[in-house]
Amino acid sequence: MLDLFSIFSKGGIVLWCFQSTSEIFSPSVNALIRSVILQERSGNTTYNHNSLTLQYKLDNEFELVFVVAYQRILQLSYVDKFLNDVHLEFRDKYKNELQGGQHMGDFDFKACFDAVLKGCEQWAKSQAKLPKQMRTFEDSQKSKKTVASMIERKGEEKGKKSVKIVESKSLTNGKVEEPEIEDDLIAASRAKLAQKLNKPKKDVKKSPKSPVAEKERVKKPRVWELGGGARDLPSLDFSTDKPQDRAINPDTQLVGRMTGAIRDLEVDSSESSSDEEEVATAPSPKKTGGMFSIFKGLVGAKALSAESMRPVLDKLRDHLIAKNVAADIANKLCESVGAKLEGKVLGTFDSVAKTIKSTLTESLVQILSPRRRVDILRDAMHAKQEGRPYVMAFCGVNGVGKSTNLAKICFWLIENDMSVLIAACDTFRAGAVEQLRTHTRHLNALHPAERHNRTMVQLYEKGYGKDAAGIAMEAIRYASDSKIDVVLIDTAGRMQDNEPLMRALAKLIKVNEPDTVLFVGEALVGNEAVDQLVKFNQALADHSSTSNPHTIDGIVLTKFDTIDDKVGAAISMTYITGQPIVFVGTGQTYTDLKALNANAVVHALMK
Ligand code: GDP
Repeated sequence: MLDLFSIFSKGGIVLWCFQSTSEIFSPSVNALIRSVILQERSGNTTYNHNSLTLQYKLDNEFELVFVVAYQRILQLSYVDKFLNDVHLEFRDKYKNELQGGQHMGDFDFKACFDAVLKGCEQWAKSQAKLPKQMRTFEDSQKSKKTVASMIERKGEEKGKKSVKIVESKSLTNGKVEEPEIEDDLIAASRAKLAQKLNKPKKDVKKSPKSPVAEKERVKKPRVWELGGGARDLPSLDFSTDKPQDRAINPDTQLVGRMTGAIRDLEVDSSESSSDEEEVATAPSPKKTGGMFSIFKGLVGAKALSAESMRPVLDKLRDHLIAKNVAADIANKLCESVGAKLEGKVLGTFDSVAKTIKSTLTESLVQILSPRRRVDILRDAMHAKQEGRPYVMAFCGVNGVGKSTNLAKICFWLIENDMSVLIAACDTFRAGAVEQLRTHTRHLNALHPAERHNRTMVQLYEKGYGKDAAGIAMEAIRYASDSKIDVVLIDTAGRMQDNEPLMRALAKLIKVNEPDTVLFVGEALVGNEAVDQLVKFNQALADHSSTSNPHTIDGIVLTKFDTIDDKVGAAISMTYITGQPIVFVGTGQTYTDLKALNANAVVHALMK
């Protein structure tokens, strides 16, 4: 997946160029020439510009530059070898012309280039298949964990093999391929289930119900208690519900609490030692100790030097890594703290604390600030003015909280007077449609049609085993015809390595062109979520078969209430993709949906 390869002379003449898509790479190559090659910076032969990584090799004898560019999100293990091999081939093939000082002419290099590329790709595959060595203790140390190390390389095999299940398109024909690798029983059973469910609906309905179950149901109808404090709610987990059996008693206290923009993660001022606010509600408070004790040694009458700060900054780095911050980000944060403190005289402990807090906040705000602002309410309003529904697709692995947080977002939209159509496109997981049906009923009970003069949320469902992309398309059409403001597409959970399912997701996004694709990841799994995010993004780019693929636009970080102060994954996710964390899930009620705020993250980091 190379985007560009170019061979040019230091004098600026392009000898040969392969460009897979369009002219959009020129600014990046120009930037490389300006800021690296012309300045004769040696050492690092990798240069990042916008979303691209450029790697180059210089041939000083013939004064040539070989440049390859690829999406920064990709981890191509063969690029070094490839640059070397192409360099040698090109020199060998055209040495006569080059010796003659000819930098112009017909360099018909395509066939040779393709052959070298193919050879290198095969080499990379064979390298990836080599048995893995057992890690040494040093290798497994947490401090070695960099952002790059969190992402597995493309083509690398994992211990757990995923099963190849045919794309959802073929599932509609009622056929499921035999799994290629048999050890993934869960995926295999899922495929069988999908096949079973693919039978006509009538059959499913006719299936005899256990008389015992029937009896039990009559005896004990479940009542969904929305009453009581929000925290007492039995949770939004409807994944195993029989919605028709529940009576609804909506808690009107929830209504009206989510109007306007999503609120920031709350900050507990009582806990803060200084006059400043902060602290995420999620992480549990610990009053004693805290990170500041590390800096006690810096208080004194002398100006701070890099040398005197080193041990303290090392401790700060370890502290951040312990909070799940990736090592390279921790380094960057420590560097910025060091730079800010150097030369200062910190007479009191208070001044140390204040300086460090403000430096960390500044750096984190920079990392956590999205490149692009996502304003869903504004965009949805805009779509409404254009007479079309605003479409959001939710993707992620199973169990991360896609459906639950989709329902929370739905509640927030309704609170802001947007009508919503939920498209039940998880056609795999048993109970997924019922779960959404239950949410729909509860959301409508909280915001009854009589109050709004229209039904605020509807469910578009077509059962199981069907083509998800097709259902999404029908749902969008229905919403458009019925003047519904927003469509929320719930997709089936899938592992990031499951290629057929990732291809099906790319298809769903390609054919339906949602306004926003949100990746749902749970904060609970820490840096595993980073790996998932990177691979989802990469798969969407790889399988979309367009030059301008629609990848992930934003992140929903769920279960933030369960991670104590280990907020590092949140930082890594934004740092790596540059995409914003649009929503943070902080619990299991409809109002437990927040926006990330750097102050809250800093506070959690400093505990
Ligand atoms: P899906 O398979 O991705 O659709 O996941 P579900 O929406 O079914 O959620 C899986 C579980 O996570 C359920 O028990 C939810 O109640 C729970 N859950 C979802 N979001 C949150 C959250 O923000 N905090 C907590 N504590 N639990 C959550």
